[in-house]
Amino acid sequence: MAEIQATNELKNILYDYFQSFFPKDKEAPKVAWCTSVGPSEILIAMGYSVYYPENHGALLGATRKANDYIPLANTIGYSPDYCSYLSSDIGAHIKGETPLSKVYNIPHPPKPDLLVYSTNQCHEVQDWFSYYAKEFNVPCFGIHPPWKVNEISDAQLSYVESQLRELISNIEKLHNKKMDWDLLEETVSNSSQASSLWGEFLAKAKTTPSPITFFDGCIQMAPAVVLRGSTTAIDYYKTLNSEIDEMIVKNSAAPKREEIRLYWDGMPIWGKLRFFSELLEKNQASAVASTYCNSWVFDLDAKDPLRSMADAYTKIFINRADDNKEKTLKRLSKEYQIDGHIFHDAKTCPYNSNNHFGLPKRLNSDNKHPYLLVDGDLNDLRCFSEEQTITSFESFIEQLKENKER
Ligand code: SF4
Repeated sequence: MAEIQATNELKNILYDYFQSFFPKDKEAPKVAWCTSVGPSEILIAMGYSVYYPENHGALLGATRKANDYIPLANTIGYSPDYCSYLSSDIGAHIKGETPLSKVYNIPHPPKPDLLVYSTNQCHEVQDWFSYYAKEFNVPCFGIHPPWKVNEISDAQLSYVESQLRELISNIEKLHNKKMDWDLLEETVSNSSQASSLWGEFLAKAKTTPSPITFFDGCIQMAPAVVLRGSTTAIDYYKTLNSEIDEMIVKNSAAPKREEIRLYWDGMPIWGKLRFFSELLEKNQASAVASTYCNSWVFDLDAKDPLRSMADAYTKIFINRADDNKEKTLKRLSKEYQIDGHIFHDAKTCPYNSNNHFGLPKRLNSDNKHPYLLVDGDLNDLRCFSEEQTITSFESFIEQLKENKER
């Protein structure tokens, strides 16, 4: 697999991001914790440095530490059946450990002065953030957009926008300080540019053979999540995209042979990225598109920041009705020339598992969208079997290859 050189720069950028919470020569910034598709632009414009617990959850999964910590959260009553980001993150907090120390040389996750979540992705985030509100004795505010929306009405957008205004007013009261609206516009503009460039990166996988895979996306998405709103993310994605353009010119595909193009639906299995990457490569398959990575491609408008945030953060894929999801999957399937779909049934994240209400079967009602269900989880590796997955995956790929030969 061709290595992406910009990843070295990414490591430095993330190191600086985490170090910035613990400056050596000045006062520590005020810190807000925010959900990954929450209204972080507002927090930045109100002067906060923003930290994302889900990013920590993903790191716990990727470093395979999650299963050390999940039982600790279970002992204080957090169920093993719900959100293993939540349970591994809370368990790590109880134990007072974090992979951030080893990777980014910081003593612990930055302590929050404020917690802000949005239930656009799931309702577990409310319980997750409420735990920390009590633990750190800090305010916790939530945005509650309408759930599982098909078409989004003006009334629904106005409802979300009014919640964003209320959030601003609540934070203003906390600090007796007014929102800097110019800074909000600038921050939304930065988010918009970074997000477009991120979308351009993902779209490069439309090339055949694809220079990048879903697994590259899982690594390269970090700035789109934790650094949106900054110019750092914009600069990074410009560098990254130039490098991928060069790979396209040189025809250097991510897997050495790309016979089968796959779509990955649902969460990554963080502790098994390498396993899947190698399994696909061995079978001449490439996962060229995913719901997960596309979830941080936002349509934001700095001229109308609050309305466009209400719109962008309500219409994320995970928050849509199945009809709308089906249309999106069909469109992406065509654009990326997909031969088959992997539906990851993440046991502790039903919101990001789209196989529960018939969607894969409806998608394949024309026999043009064959699919494979993979049992697993984002962080809890007890829910995943390598042996079972290899067997079912290899016979699925055989079937797709036969389909192509017909
Ligand atoms: S979307 Fe899933 S993984 Fe993410 S916070 Fe919610 S339940 Fe957890």
